[in-house]
Amino acid sequence: MSEHQGSCHCGQVRLTLRDEPTEAVECNCSICRRTGGLWHYSSPDAVVVEGQGISYQQGDRSLDLWHCQQCGCTTHWTATDSNYGRMAVNLRMFEPSVLRDLPRRLVDGASF
Ligand SMILES: [Zn+2]
Repeated sequence: MSEHQGSCHCGQVRLTLRDEPTEAVECNCSICRRTGGLWHYSSPDAVVVEGQGISYQQGDRSLDLWHCQQCGCTTHWTATDSNYGRMAVNLRMFEPSVLRDLPRRLVDGASF
């Protein structure tokens, strides 16, 4: 099984992804177009988050968007409903080689 290690710039928030991304999702919703995240959607079972970030909830408050309080990098999002079996990691927190050859997929989050 492939495993990828990522972290925010200062290293306070660390991500372990036990999954192989096949695409990098770019979303145009009001928050994603500002943070510039490239997302890999994943089962929460495949991601380990270490270190304490800060969450930001927008709109309907269905998601926590996490960032590092020290360096500000947006690291991942989780669903506020723990039964929702999906989260996402920001592929920009990983080595460039993880991201380099992945096709980009645009998601029209602004229209939801
Ligand atoms: Zn940081």
